[in-house]
Amino acid sequence: MPATIVIGTQWGDEGKGKAVDELASRMDFVVRYQGGNNAGHTVVAEGKVLKLHLVPSGILYPHITSVIADGVVVDPRVLIEEMDTLLGLGIDVSRLVVSGNAHLIMPYHLELERVTERFLGKNALGTTKRGIGPAYADKAARIGIRMQDLFDAKIFREKLEVVLKEKNLILTKVYGRLPLEADGIVEAYRAYAERLRPHVADTSKLLHEALRAGRNVLLEGAQGTLLDLDHGTYPFVTSSNPVAGYAIASAGIGPSQVERVVGIAKAYVTRVGAGPFPTEDLGQDGERMGERGREFGTTTGRKRRCGWFDAVIVRYASRLNGLTELFLTKLDVLSGFPAVRVCTGYRANGELFEDVPPHQSLFHRAEPVYEELEGWQEEIGAARTFEDLPSAARTYVRRLQELVDVPIRIVSVGPAREQSLPVP
Ligand code: GDP
Repeated sequence: MPATIVIGTQWGDEGKGKAVDELASRMDFVVRYQGGNNAGHTVVAEGKVLKLHLVPSGILYPHITSVIADGVVVDPRVLIEEMDTLLGLGIDVSRLVVSGNAHLIMPYHLELERVTERFLGKNALGTTKRGIGPAYADKAARIGIRMQDLFDAKIFREKLEVVLKEKNLILTKVYGRLPLEADGIVEAYRAYAERLRPHVADTSKLLHEALRAGRNVLLEGAQGTLLDLDHGTYPFVTSSNPVAGYAIASAGIGPSQVERVVGIAKAYVTRVGAGPFPTEDLGQDGERMGERGREFGTTTGRKRRCGWFDAVIVRYASRLNGLTELFLTKLDVLSGFPAVRVCTGYRANGELFEDVPPHQSLFHRAEPVYEELEGWQEEIGAARTFEDLPSAARTYVRRLQELVDVPIRIVSVGPAREQSLPVP
């Protein structure tokens, strides 16, 4: 009956897609548990590179049922678009199941996010402008519209008209925009309802029954631990909770069902958008990481900020998620540096911190304390066992493990499956 949670330990883009791929052969269910169409999984299917933002990557495996759980916010237009893309590639989408409790992203969420980000000017959060934050806000305000509402036309219109009254006031009076018409929205969402009806179910019950029958369930988070709404670098965070605890709340299963919590960490760190990032390297080293690691956002195409591995934040992620193991990705990107650095603590206001400082202002000011290790010059993508790696690379991995105090189970040296090396 085991469930496994996969969670990014940094600011997202750790290469979760690859870790999920590695685990998928043993899984029966893959569940997306938070966020919306702001995740970015690069998957290769039929020789084509495909970017999935909402549908769980499990969809590519014929034996897996892919689930979008309660805690995800769903833009039905995007969901249908992704389903069509997959169908066009000959991928069966009949095993995609969406929770009836999942909240819908509505056209006014997109419109409001665009205008509020503009209004914030230089204080803008740099959101993906997909309406995700506003949809979560409405969920908490109890004015959200859920997937199941699509199947009761009367209720759907009633709820929409109530919400629209307020949203249109804000759009017109505060931001000077045009109001949105209920009729157009009702019509579009009626068509989405027809298309999505066969996919909507009570996913908590589905997963409960699956676990009871001894099936394997993988719960995959989007974004990363440091982008968690509660535990991340607020307000430069996502509008949901990527941490492992939320996986079970969203899926509607109990904590005792979880056996493994796999943290994904990149061998260096990247971050998209604004917010503190102590080990950010604005010089040649960061530039080189970005180039070698092709660090451009899957969803937004934005260039990612890059820097050295930060053991403080991965230790923090281990504590918050209760990690049982780590999957270290993109070690190959670090080939060719004369020396590699690891951040072991921070200095702020003359004080030394071995943990994330308790006040955000200190974190903003945190200067990394580095330990320098010998680099390795050779490309390592051809390594097939951990022992094939240069000794400096092995020392680096062992040192990271010591510093974060979580066993590193796999080191990845390239995008392909055979480039995942078990660590003895
Ligand atoms: P995700 O959303 O967490 O999966 O992260 P990204 O969207 O940033 O995807 C990671 C990218 O890095 C994908 O294009 C992967 O194929 C690639 N990748 C994954 N692991 C490795 C690795 O070990 N080395 C290299 N060079 N690329 C990798």
